Amino acid sequence: MIKTPPVVVALGNNSIPVAQKIISVLPGAQLYGLAGRTCDVDVSFTEFGTTLRELFTNGVPIIGICATGILIRTLAPLLANKRQEPPVLAVAEDGSAVVPLLGGLNGVNSLAHQIAEVLNVKPAITTTGDIRFGIALEDPPVGYRLANPDDAKSFMSDLLAGNSVKLEGNAPWLKNSSLPIAQDAQRIIQITEKQVVSTSKRLVYHPATVVIGVTLLNGSWRGGSEEIAFVQKMLVDAELAPASVAGVFASTLDAAHPALQAIADALNVPIRFFTTDEIAVVMSQHNTVDVAMLQQGAEPLRANALALAASSGQLVMQRQTSDFSCAIALSPLPVNINTTGRPRGRLAVIGTGPGGKHWMSPEAQKILRNTTDLVGYSTYLKLVGSLGKGKRWHESDNREEIARARIALDLAAEGRFVAVVSSGDPGIYAMAAAVFEVLEQEAKPGWQGIEIQVAPGISAMQAAAAKIGAPLGHDFCTISLSDILKPWSIIEQRITAAAQADFVIAFYNPVSKQRTWQLVEAKNILLRYRHPDTPVVLARNLGRDGESIQVCTLEHLAPELADMRTVILVGSSKTRTIQRCDGNVWVYTPRRYDSPSH
Ligand code: SAH
Repeated sequence: MIKTPPVVVALGNNSIPVAQKIISVLPGAQLYGLAGRTCDVDVSFTEFGTTLRELFTNGVPIIGICATGILIRTLAPLLANKRQEPPVLAVAEDGSAVVPLLGGLNGVNSLAHQIAEVLNVKPAITTTGDIRFGIALEDPPVGYRLANPDDAKSFMSDLLAGNSVKLEGNAPWLKNSSLPIAQDAQRIIQITEKQVVSTSKRLVYHPATVVIGVTLLNGSWRGGSEEIAFVQKMLVDAELAPASVAGVFASTLDAAHPALQAIADALNVPIRFFTTDEIAVVMSQHNTVDVAMLQQGAEPLRANALALAASSGQLVMQRQTSDFSCAIALSPLPVNINTTGRPRGRLAVIGTGPGGKHWMSPEAQKILRNTTDLVGYSTYLKLVGSLGKGKRWHESDNREEIARARIALDLAAEGRFVAVVSSGDPGIYAMAAAVFEVLEQEAKPGWQGIEIQVAPGISAMQAAAAKIGAPLGHDFCTISLSDILKPWSIIEQRITAAAQADFVIAFYNPVSKQRTWQLVEAKNILLRYRHPDTPVVLARNLGRDGESIQVCTLEHLAPELADMRTVILVGSSKTRTIQRCDGNVWVYTPRRYDSPSH
């Protein structure tokens, strides 16, 4: 699972050196700085409280270079569930103190140790168990789940009061701690994949050593409830604890099958995939296969191979129905889900908005924080700024949309989390449609299981309208004047129809260096239906350096006023201008047709 990288928050430039030291040991971490007080930061914010609360709610670990009180007061209203809170730490501006505040069950102390080490200080660990025994019973390392977390606190208190503990089973992190271990102790910590009874005197940790391999025959597209019950019954019969299941493993070819995800979701574990080649290798290594199984076809064998590939251990149970096979295997060590098989690929087509970060949606920003790969036209990739740091960039020329979509789908099919970046809205003359064109036309089997998402953005016309008033206040349409992907005859017809229908028209791609006559033609068509005084808005480089907004009349519209970074809004017969005292104008289109017009 992708762990969210932390955010380091600085309130002044004095904090930056310490912040940067911290970031140097936390891959993917971002520096947030208070606007006006900090420079050279990844993200500049103005609202401290809103920003922090949003990060916290999104589960982002927070390291504030500030007083503990500020963090406590800011986050206090959100402190409802300690099992879900991300780590929150305060670090002194000069790096002399590292204070873990929240997220005790989510690794705040180990994060504090990591930060303190780079700052060369001792972290202010206040959890008694951690100090005395070097261990947090409630917060086991990755690969172990505590079956009875509610007993952990009193169990630790008992040990702190002088009781000793007996270890049953193997867990190096417990064995290597300073716990008062004694063979004849009354209190027991048991490490087992078996379903056993836990009590206040017996803490049970389930290691992530159980793997489940599943295969489905094509065509059996059921929702998964039968398969879930089937797998759960197998776990019961094998006396294995569901909490020890590390993951569900399947073939990349089955990735699109809804039942697979349903099984993983029901067990609350990740799903990982192996390619047919990887499965074949394991099948050939384990050729001591039951003959009876061979007679039943290859599906059970593939399920076995999946479980063996994921566990590098022993099969414990295998069962099948006519179209579903499930194998359970046991690994000698907790399975590292990040290095075993590949995750379901994700492809997010996102819109950055027209320019600056202030016009990028929080959803798009969140996606950018978590992706592994960015695909897009280099100019647009630059728009993502610091959010693109530490990712693999796959830049391409502006015209290679189809090739770009194919690259993105192929990368996602490898299990990567890919963001395809468009400017403005990704669904408006941009990459989202290109992705679906390729998806439909080429329909590679490996693409079927990819999770695809489109995250909207503010389109150029909306930004232009907002800057100048409300020209899109009534019915409007958009027309691209580029005749690369459609013939001019269609464009001409659309302009005529839009003019006749009295739509406000947003013209995208109005001109390029080689292509200027289309705008002149468009104007000529419009003048047949619209008054020469109709207001026209030319908005250039919105949200970027060199932003300019100009208003003229239809009569004066000329290609020289625009370039390929300009969006043009042509008013309807109702669109009006209001003179402002600074010499500029507002442009708006009234919402009703009975209001006064010129
Ligand atoms: N997906 C984009 C549109 C891409 S087509 C969106 O929703 O905005 C490219 C055209 O969009 C440009 O030729 C221009 O007409 C317009 N455009 C894109 N970004 C712009 C910006 N920052 N300022 C003005 N126009 C822009």
